[in-house]
Amino acid sequence: MTTQQANDPASYIASFDVEEHYRIEAAVGLEVTPEAKSAYAGRMEKTTHQLLDQLAAVGTTATFYVVGEIARSHPTLVRAIHTAGHEVGSHSWDHQRVHRFTPETFRDDLLRSKDALEHVTGSPVYGFRAPTFSVVRETGWAVDVLAACGFEYDSSVFPVRHDRYGIPEAPRGPFVAVGKVGEILELPPLTYRVAGLNLPVAGGGYFRLFPLCMMRAGLGQAARARPAVGMLYFHPWEFDPGQPHLPLPRLARWRTYVGVGRTTTRLAALLSAYRFRRAIDVVRDIRRSGVELPRFSLSG
Ligand SMILES: [Zn+2]
Repeated sequence: MTTQQANDPASYIASFDVEEHYRIEAAVGLEVTPEAKSAYAGRMEKTTHQLLDQLAAVGTTATFYVVGEIARSHPTLVRAIHTAGHEVGSHSWDHQRVHRFTPETFRDDLLRSKDALEHVTGSPVYGFRAPTFSVVRETGWAVDVLAACGFEYDSSVFPVRHDRYGIPEAPRGPFVAVGKVGEILELPPLTYRVAGLNLPVAGGGYFRLFPLCMMRAGLGQAARARPAVGMLYFHPWEFDPGQPHLPLPRLARWRTYVGVGRTTTRLAALLSAYRFRRAIDVVRDIRRSGVELPRFSLSG
């Protein structure tokens, strides 16, 4: 694998969406027993600690978008993430897609999660990632609510065509998401543009299934853009090959578990080849630089 050149000013961000495995979108509607939930919670805690060790071993800081309920159930874990120098952002209160809310109930959910995380770490939460990248056209009002709740940035708009999420025509680099009354700086997950299509190479199957060269090609394109930002995303459960599999339909099961056995080595390869930074530091740099970002309306 190529190594990031010393003169490459690009900012790469490794982000982790911290949730228990049974909360994934593919498992919505499944009956999960309290015993299984508690077992998945224990595995989430253990795997997140392993990730913290892996990051510490190479001196890398990352951004962790944490489900608010986890601040209540596992305060020690959330404190450990923060104490290690990583950014703690919000991944909603209990991992519901934005579609399930009205602007009013979304506001309550956001503030509940933000307050719980801030209470545990004693530091402000600046960033948000919606479960399943569910800030899309029909939930574009979320931009106004995020801005009103004091978030500095969001990372929930995936500029791809996908069955569950995405705004394919949204900018691929950092942009200003414009709502009806508010706006917020958006850090979209990494895409690789080829043959007129944006491939979602930031994580998921492109991390676990395909050769890493797809992700690297996306990072290469991001490095040539201005500002040069490449946002990757991972989940603790993707690094836990021993976990019991949820009883998902066949295709969903394959999509969920493919490649889980090789992710730790793949992450190690990425961590040794690129320098990663916390999302909030990248956001602050963008603001300081005064660079004019594209504006993109989600309310129209
Ligand atoms: Zn999630």
